[in-house]
Amino acid sequence: MKLTNLTRAREIGANCYLLEAGGARILLDSGMHPRALGQAATPDFSVLDGRGFDAMVLTHAHQDHSGCLPLAMRQAPGKPVFMTQATAALTDVMLHNSVNVMLRQRESEGMSDYPLFSHREVEQISEQWRIAPLNAPFDLSGERGGLAGGVTCEFFDAGHILGSIGALVRAEGRRIFYTGDVNFEDQTLMRGARFPVDDIDVLIMETTRGNSPVPTGFTRHAEEKRFLGDLQAALDDDAPVLIPVFALGKTQELLALLHRARKSGELRGGFGLYVGGLGAKVTAVTDRLRGRAPRHFGDLKLAECLPMEVVGGRDIAKLSVSPKTVYAVSSGMMTEKTLSNALAPRILENPDARCMFIGYSDPASPAGRVRAAASGGEVSLDAGQRPVRLRCRVDEYTLSAHAVRDGLLDYARKAQPAKVVLVHGDPPAVEWFAREIPKVCPHSEIILPNPGEPVEL
Ligand SMILES: [Zn+2]
Repeated sequence: MKLTNLTRAREIGANCYLLEAGGARILLDSGMHPRALGQAATPDFSVLDGRGFDAMVLTHAHQDHSGCLPLAMRQAPGKPVFMTQATAALTDVMLHNSVNVMLRQRESEGMSDYPLFSHREVEQISEQWRIAPLNAPFDLSGERGGLAGGVTCEFFDAGHILGSIGALVRAEGRRIFYTGDVNFEDQTLMRGARFPVDDIDVLIMETTRGNSPVPTGFTRHAEEKRFLGDLQAALDDDAPVLIPVFALGKTQELLALLHRARKSGELRGGFGLYVGGLGAKVTAVTDRLRGRAPRHFGDLKLAECLPMEVVGGRDIAKLSVSPKTVYAVSSGMMTEKTLSNALAPRILENPDARCMFIGYSDPASPAGRVRAAASGGEVSLDAGQRPVRLRCRVDEYTLSAHAVRDGLLDYARKAQPAKVVLVHGDPPAVEWFAREIPKVCPHSEIILPNPGEPVEL
C-alpha cells in the first residue's frame, strides 16, 4: 500500500494524492494552487506515469482541492469521481468561475495556454461524477462487482464547508482515513465534523493551522461576540467596512452570523451590505440545497435573510464606498484582480473606514501583507499598481473554517493510528504536528511525504 504526494511543494497548494491500495489506484482531490499560475498551479500529474487511476474522491469544492479536476480526469478518461451532492453542485459553479478567471488572466498576465480547460469540458466531465452519501460504504469502482480486492470508501461529514467530507478507504483489511479539510467545532452555519475514531490504521491529516497557536481561553463564541461588537461600533461610527471573504464557505457563514446577530439583537440598526457575484452564486446553491446537507439553520434562505446588493468585477471600480456599509467580497486573501483587492485601496487609505479579516490569509498574499503592515505604512496589493498607505483600522478575528491545531491533535490521540501522514500545511505547521503527535500517539509512525516520492503505508 502506497501514497504519493502530487503537490509540487510541501505547502497549502494544489492538493492531490495517489493512494495505491488493494490493487487499485485512487486519486484524492485535485486542487489548483490559489496563488501560482500555469503549470506551477497544477498537481504534478507526471507522477501518474501515464497509468491514470481507477477512481477519484473529491473531498470538497474549494479551489485548492477541486480546481484541477478537469485536468486530473483527462489522466483517466471514463473513470468515476465520487463526491457529495453539495460538492458536485458547488464544484460546478467554482470550475466555471475558474474558466472565467483564466480567460481574464490570459489577457492580463499573458498566459497563452489559459484557460487550462473550457466551460464545455466542465459540462462534459460532470457525467463521470458519482454522488455518494454520508456514513454509508460504497464501492469505489462505481460499477457492480467493484475493484479488484473489494476496495470501498465511506464519507464522513467534515464540518468545513457545505458538502465537505473526510474519506475512509477500506482495502487489504486496513482502514485509511483522509481528513480533507476539517473543522471539529460548530461554525455558525456548518456543524462540527463527525469523524470516525475506531480502528484507523493510516490517518492522512491536514495541518493548515499547525503554526497558529490558540490563545488561552479562546472560544469561537467569544470571538464572534468580539467581532460583532467591533462591527456594531464601526457601523455606529458610519464607517464603511471591508470584510474580505472566500466566496465559498466564508460568505455564507458571515451571512448566517449577521442574520443570527440581527435576530438576537447583538447587531442593531440598519446597514448596507454588498456581496460579490461569485459569493451570491454560491449562496444561491447553498439555499437550493438547504435541508439536503448537514448544517444549522436548515430552512434559512441566506440570500433572503438580509437586504443585500450584489457587486461584480465590472462594477467594482465604479462603486462609491458608502458609510455604514459592509462589503463582504472575495477573495479572503485579497488576491490580485479580485473584488476585495480592487476595493481595498478605497478602504485602506480612508481613515474612517475599517477592514476586518475573519479567516486565514497566506502571509505571502496581499491580505497577509495588509495584516502584517503597521498603521501608516505602505502595502503593495498588486505588482502592477502603486502601493497603498494603510490609514484605516485593521482588525483580525479567528473565525476559521479549519480545525484548531489542538483539535486535530486530540483527534489523532483518540484515533491512535499506526501511521500519520501529514499533508496540506506550510512547513512550520507540518513540523509542529510532527513534534506534537508523538507525545499523544507514542506508537504512531509520522510520515511527511515529499512531492513525487511514494511512501509505503
Ligand atoms: Zn477547504
